[in-house]
Amino acid sequence: MSERPKDSGEAFQNPVAGFGVTFKAMFKKRLTEQYPEQQKTTAPRFHGRHQLNRHPDGLEKCVGCELCAWACPADAIYVEGADNTEEERYSPGERYGRVYQINYARCILCGLCIEACPTRALTMTNEFELADSSRENLIYTKEQLLAGLEPGMVDTPHAIHPGTDEQDYYRGLVTEAAPGTERQVAVSKGEKPQDAASSFGPAEPAANKEVDA
Ligand code: SF4
Ligand code: SF4
Repeated sequence: MSERPKDSGEAFQNPVAGFGVTFKAMFKKRLTEQYPEQQKTTAPRFHGRHQLNRHPDGLEKCVGCELCAWACPADAIYVEGADNTEEERYSPGERYGRVYQINYARCILCGLCIEACPTRALTMTNEFELADSSRENLIYTKEQLLAGLEPGMVDTPHAIHPGTDEQDYYRGLVTEAAPGTERQVAVSKGEKPQDAASSFGPAEPAANKEVDA
């Protein structure tokens, strides 16, 4: 069966119709984002990188209970808890998170871990630039996840606010470090007294704002 010959009108209209699409697109709003030159603003409750939060005096909120690790469907969290002592205290209560790791090669940023956390120690920030070419670098340690120091905080380990107990911290009665609060020596981390003295320093701003899940 022979093909129907194109008439001259159809042969002219097809290319013009194609240019019509191009011409219309020229006047539409541009959707291309100039990332990474222009950073994208995320939604306020965006699920980004995690953060381990501190109490207002600098003590850590994590009590090393491992509930976040148990809640994680991707098995991305590893926690080892340990006991606080009066000489080396990291959190107001009995236990603290000695080792804390999140593997971002596994994490799907679902937020179930922060829902499981009983102390609001773990929250998520808006930071989304987590890509890396090394698997090792994708395992974030406690030191990387712990919030920075805000004014009025002293880095851990240090003593509990005098005259208070763990409950007072959760009732919001401790608002900053007591005058004279000094950082203790982190003996469990192999620190010597002079190391502790040299680790004092100006308070650094918190790395990321805490965001509700
Ligand atoms: S956000 Fe989800 S996948 Fe990631 S560590 Fe938390 S529970 Fe696991
Ligand atoms: S982050 Fe929260 S749930 Fe996870 S170990 Fe610490 S206190 Fe427990």
